[in-house]
Parts: sequence; C-alpha cells; structure tokens
Amino acid sequence: MSINIGVIGTGGIGQGHIERLNNQTADAKVVAVNDINKETAAIVGEKYGAKVYDNPHVLIDAPDVDAILVASWDPTHEEFCTAAIRAGKPVFCEKPLADTSEGCKRIMQEEMKTGKRLLFLGFMRRYDAGYRELRYAIESGRLGNPLILHCKHRNMHPSGAAHTTDMSVTGSLVHEFDVIRYLIGEDDPYISAQLVCPRRAKYADEDLIDPQLIYLETKSGIRINLETFVNCHYGYDVQCEVVGDEASASLPDPSHIQVREAGTIGFEIKPSWQDRFPEAYVVEMNEWVSDIKSGIVTGPSAWDGYVTAKVAECCIESRETKQIVPIDLGECPAFYKK
Ligand code: NAP
Repeated sequence: MSINIGVIGTGGIGQGHIERLNNQTADAKVVAVNDINKETAAIVGEKYGAKVYDNPHVLIDAPDVDAILVASWDPTHEEFCTAAIRAGKPVFCEKPLADTSEGCKRIMQEEMKTGKRLLFLGFMRRYDAGYRELRYAIESGRLGNPLILHCKHRNMHPSGAAHTTDMSVTGSLVHEFDVIRYLIGEDDPYISAQLVCPRRAKYADEDLIDPQLIYLETKSGIRINLETFVNCHYGYDVQCEVVGDEASASLPDPSHIQVREAGTIGFEIKPSWQDRFPEAYVVEMNEWVSDIKSGIVTGPSAWDGYVTAKVAECCIESRETKQIVPIDLGECPAFYKK
C-alpha cells in the first residue's frame, strides 16, 4: 500500500522531505503540493509530478491525499495541523508545533477529540544514530545516574535577515529541549529555566542577542547547560556531553575521514543542519510512513511540542526578567503518555 502525501510549504526543508519521501522512503509518494509562493510550488510540482493546489485547505481535504506534511512558515503550523486533524488525516508537522504553548494545547485538544494520535512532530534528532547511541549508554546504566548535561548548538550564521533573538530559542533550541528529554527520559520533567547573556559576539547584528546561555533543572536534580550561538562562523556544530556518576559520554561527531597534514590531524565540521543530520531525516520520514501504515503514531507528539514551547517561553521570560523562572508543565494527558 502506497501512501499519497500532500505537502504544504515547498521551501528548503519541504523540498528535502519531498525528495526523501519519493526516493528514499518505501511506499510513499507526494501527489500534491502547495506554497504561498506559487512559483516555487509550480516548479516543485512539475519536478515531482504532483498536483499544485492554490489553496492549502483544498489540498488537505482532497480525497486522493492520505496524509499531510506541513513545512511552511512557523506561524502557519497550528492552522494547517488543526485542519488536517479535523479532516482525520495523519499529519507530519515541522517544528515548532505552534507559535505558543497555548497554541500547542489547542492542537492537543483537537487531536484528543479524534480519539487517536494523528500528529507526528519533526524532532528528527531522535532518529540520529549518535543521539540513539548516547541514549542507549544512559539506559544501559554504564554512566550511572546522569548528573549534568553540557549541550551546544552553534550555527555558522543566523537563518536569515529576519532571525531574531527569540528565534534562537523558539526555532533552534526546541530541538535541544526535546532531545534532552529523549536522552534522560520523559518522566523527569524540567522544573526551572534561567537564560543569561554573555557580551555580544563581534559578528552579531546590533539588534540580536548572541550567544545566549541557558540553565535548566529537572525534577530529579539533573542540571543542563545549553548554549545557542548563531554567529559562530566556523560551522554547524551540535554537541552534547552527559556526565554521570560512573562515567561520561559525548555525542559523536559525524564520521569523516581524518586528514593528517601540516603537523595536524583534523576532520571537516559540516556547514549546515542538512549536512550534519542527513540520515536522521531519512529515518524520520520512513518512521512516519511506517506509522501511517500501521495506524499507530509512535513519533514525537503534540505533547512533546507543547513541552518545548513552554520551556522556550520560560527561557525568554528569564532573559527579560533576569530571574530563574519555574516551569509548570501541568499533567501530561493520559492520551499522550507512552
Ligand atoms: P523556507 O525555505 O522559507 O520555506 C518555507 C516555505 O513556506 C516558503 O516557500 C514560504 O513561502 C512558504 N509559506 C509561508 N507561508 C505559507 C502559507 N501560508 N502557506 C503555504 N506556504 C507558505 O523555510 P524552511 O527552512 O523550509 O522551513 C520551513 C519549516 O521547517 C519552518 O517551520 C522551520 O522551522 C522548519 N525547519 C525544521 C528543520 C528541522 O531540522 N527539523 C530545519 C529547517 C526548517 P515564501 O517563499 O513566500 O516565504
């Protein structure tokens, strides 16, 4: 059985997902596309033989579209996910789930009304081999209890002229907030957040606070320090070290040849997220389609999206108030308990 997919948003990652769904995923075909940028949609539609829709809601309701992939701008995710859920169709949503934690709650309420999970959220780091290995190391007990996590998320340059200080948290660090829960277990919720700012980096625009440093605490007392630096200039660099009471373990750098030259040994640091995590996106798409076929969604959920949005809001509040902000996530609905 092949799954017919409709894609809303045919920009950078939308095109990447279309390529992966059509050519690197079993039993999936993109049959419909939509983008507010009609020219891009037309080019992509022609390239992949997909019908181009002017109206995303008509695409969502099209009888020959089995499932929806949302890869448009962040502020549109809530509207399109809600429409897909109301149409009773499985939906993959790129992060972030919604602009606010309240928006995420509204999506949860819509999904719970249907009685079954339909939404799969694009936190692809859960499908990265390195993070999976790190999680196995924690689960195996060889590190002892995790005590501290040191995490770094560095981008060569900001994502574009429109990149804001908040977007470093709401757009990028949500990946960290999610994958840390994946590593340490979701039964140990975050309870507080603090965001402090060192002096501004030389290459950061005047209206951008960069880098930013975050301290999170979990209920069991694990402390996490987390850096976002979107003007690091040297590459796209994601690091994570888990310090336990028996041993510590670090996320491996992607495997590369080592070059010995001029008295040094070195390997390339990839320039972008596309180059750093290519396999994770392929595994993610395959898992999504396999979930659609089995009728049981196992991927990151709307609750996972809510948690990351709430933590992001607390971090931003901490930057503004210069206080440590308590994180009150409330009770995870039974519907979303794993
Ligand atoms: P992008 O290249 O700007 O593509 C977004 C596309 O959506 C653009 O073509 C944009 O049109 C279109 N769009 C905007 N509003 C729309 C609407 N109302 N209806 C239909 N299409 C609309 O951005 P991107 O990098 O692909 O990012 C897309 C989403 O993926 C974002 O939410 C981002 O956070 C997420 N993302 C996730 C990851 C990850 O690692 N998981 C990585 C990158 C991006 P215009 O050309 O007119 O702007």
